[in-house]
Amino acid sequence: MKAIGVRRDGDGPELLEKDRPTPGPGEALVRTLRVGVDGTDHEVIGGAHGGYPEGEDHMVLGHEAVGVVEEPNGTGLDEGQVVVPTVRRKPDGETNEYFRRGEPDMAPEGEYFERGIVGEHGFMAEYFTSPADFLVPVPEELAEYGLFIEPISITEKANEHAFATREPFEWRPESACVLGNGSLGLLTLWMLQQKFDRTYCVGRRDRPDPTVDIIDELGSTYIDSRETPVDEIPADHESVDYVYEATGFAPHSVQTVQALAPNGVGALLGIPEPWDFEIDGGALHNEIVLHNKCLIGTVNSHIKHFEYAVETLSEAPKWLLDDLITTVADPTDVAPAFENGDDQIKAVVEFDTL
Ligand code: NDP
Repeated sequence: MKAIGVRRDGDGPELLEKDRPTPGPGEALVRTLRVGVDGTDHEVIGGAHGGYPEGEDHMVLGHEAVGVVEEPNGTGLDEGQVVVPTVRRKPDGETNEYFRRGEPDMAPEGEYFERGIVGEHGFMAEYFTSPADFLVPVPEELAEYGLFIEPISITEKANEHAFATREPFEWRPESACVLGNGSLGLLTLWMLQQKFDRTYCVGRRDRPDPTVDIIDELGSTYIDSRETPVDEIPADHESVDYVYEATGFAPHSVQTVQALAPNGVGALLGIPEPWDFEIDGGALHNEIVLHNKCLIGTVNSHIKHFEYAVETLSEAPKWLLDDLITTVADPTDVAPAFENGDDQIKAVVEFDTL
């Protein structure tokens, strides 16, 4: 079968020929429809994040997938059911307390593999197998856009954790700001628009630009960080109740605190490489304490977030999903899916259709 992966001695994603996998006990065989490409894939390809499966000279890419059950293999799933796989798996087939609790997204490094990212092959292949417990059923009408369920689930988790920190008091948030106009940032912007009166999205692009067009179309305010750095958002616009960082630009971790309104919360999602920069640690400490601010980090997601994400995707406007998908590549000509120009938002590799 065709698969797209990277080799230890290669120089980028390539078409590989692999055997079709055989499902083990408790696993189903899934025929892949579409797999999305995101910033994490680019970090994996560049060697900045993740790692190869042990003893293998290559890793199949892809963690944002949607497919159809080909062989239920006695798992209780129906043949033809559209499913989306979660990403984290038990290391070496063993279980641990995080998986036993159904919270693998809370496991520390070393206690999990991530398919297509660290330690295990991904889903960018004609077929993949997965334990049925890690396959989330999706209505057939959402199959074309099912690759968005994984990134939406990331934001479902981030929002759940961030808002939970504000539960002990009467928090009445009105404004939110997303840092980053990549596919994760833009999907999140739409999600936050459903909850907040005013939304902002920070990028660093000149108009005309397809991501800024989407920000405009959503009725959100575009902020160019070259003109208004994140810590100056309160002076140029307003201090915001919620900041969602999806740039991976390390200074934003600190600037988020300055952008927040008193009692606000910031969620950090970016995964930067080591990055030295100067900060006034006293001012940061003081600002967090005296204004009851909160900063959380959040990574990955699990079954319940995927289930929320199915519901959220069903409410997303079709124009937004269509505008986000800028490339649909065939596995035999995959290079366009990994181009990273300003006109690329979400690239998809399409193996099959329903
Ligand atoms: P992208 O690389 O597609 O998007 C990042 C966006 O941030 C780009 O549009 C980039 O603009 C913009 N950006 C970067 N620096 C600045 C800056 N200084 N000012 C304004 N805008 C800036 O990535 P994704 O959308 O896929 O993901 C976003 C981040 O979230 C990545 O770091 C990714 O690794 C991380 N991530 C984390 C997850 C988690 O579980 N925590 C899950 C998924 C992703 P431009 O293109 O113009 O350079």
